[in-house]
Amino acid sequence: MSYDVIVIGCGLAGATCARELAERGGQRVLLLERRPHVGGNAYDCEDGSGILIHKYGPHIFHTNNERVYRYLSRFTDFSDYMHTVTANIHGNFVPVPFNFNSIERVFGDRAPGLIKKLTDKYPEGTKIPIFELTEQNDPELSELADYVFNNVFAHYTEKQWGVPITEVSRETLARVPVFLSRDDRYFQDTYQGMPKDGYTAMFERMLDHGNIEFCLGTDARDRVRFEGGVITLDGEAFDGRVIFSGALDELFDYRYGDLPYRTLDFGFETHGVDSFQPNGTVNYTVDMPYTRITEFKKLTGQKKAGVTTIMKEYSRACTRGDNPYYAILNKENLELYGKYKELADRYPSLFLVGRLAEYKYYNMDAIVARALELCDRLI
Ligand SMILES: Cc1cc2nc3c(=O)[nH]c(=O)nc-3n(C[C@H](O)[C@H](O)[C@H](O)COP(=O)(O)OP(=O)(O)OC[C@H]3O[C@@H](n4cnc5c(N)ncnc54)[C@H](O)[C@@H]3O)c2cc1C
Repeated sequence: MSYDVIVIGCGLAGATCARELAERGGQRVLLLERRPHVGGNAYDCEDGSGILIHKYGPHIFHTNNERVYRYLSRFTDFSDYMHTVTANIHGNFVPVPFNFNSIERVFGDRAPGLIKKLTDKYPEGTKIPIFELTEQNDPELSELADYVFNNVFAHYTEKQWGVPITEVSRETLARVPVFLSRDDRYFQDTYQGMPKDGYTAMFERMLDHGNIEFCLGTDARDRVRFEGGVITLDGEAFDGRVIFSGALDELFDYRYGDLPYRTLDFGFETHGVDSFQPNGTVNYTVDMPYTRITEFKKLTGQKKAGVTTIMKEYSRACTRGDNPYYAILNKENLELYGKYKELADRYPSLFLVGRLAEYKYYNMDAIVARALELCDRLI
């Protein structure tokens, strides 16, 4: 079989492009994926005790983009799961983002007074950056802001990024809010939920198309070469398009050095109980070496008595051979990325899409939207 397009990587970026180009574009697609499974980081599977787990970290679908929701709904139904996160503050489970319910949990009898002060100044539903509360020169609101900063944000962020809080950008700090609401949901998007049969089943349906041939366990670098402005497939010049969703520094043999990332180590534990924690994700914001614990049954709604699986996440610097998860975005790293991008631009039929190829954090819906837009242009 000859191909019109090669897609590298079978996460949401690659799978969406493969399906669109095969179906809407009528093109013959070769899809190459290094891992032995589809789905990229959204892959899920049953563990030894029959619990559906997310191997690369908990993935909750949420979006305000109707096109993305409708597109993915062709391949899966979604449950009506609404994600909630609590911070474990010395054993007290406090809703995050910090809201009226959190204020009551932490400040007890003082809560009504604090809530009144906030609602006298701001409309309900506002997310107020804690810096703005400090600037009010009201000692009680400053105390609230300091509490959120120290007990919900600072230690957690230090663990996540591996730097002292003083080195975290002011822009990031400015995003920590107090949410004037009793809405405990972590996301307020119009559409949210979990794929009813899991992400992997959704991907399998996306790839079930006669124009798609996919090879798992295949590192594209073993078959597709980029040299001197020419792309080859299995040693022969390839004049079709290549859509690449892997890491750009790796593609060009780290010529200018490694693009820095944070990686995660996942500690899975199965416990002989119905339920481990009160809600899907609990952030450890004042102690513990891990950042958070996710209990999968709470996310997926899976009914299984007497057993549950949890996952602890440990964040650390990424070195070659680790899974790169979070791009470390600063001026220096973006300049380095720019040099790799210049190399990629020497191949006019090479298109970059995805969180690795673009060295950017994308939620799942954003990456599907990006892939759909790219295909709109290509078809
Ligand atoms: C811990 C964590 C939790 C997250 N939770 C959420 C969430 O709750 N909600 C949400 O919306 N988003 C979440 N995200 C973001 C989500 O994971 C991304 O939006 C999504 O993975 C992006 O898809 P992608 O296709 O760009 O990348 P990926 O899913 O990483 O897919 C890229 C694929 O390319 C393959 N590949 C790379 N190089 C090669 C090569 N040389 N040859 C062959 N194959 C190659 C890789 O093996 C991989 O399978 C989370 C991310 C992380 C890290």
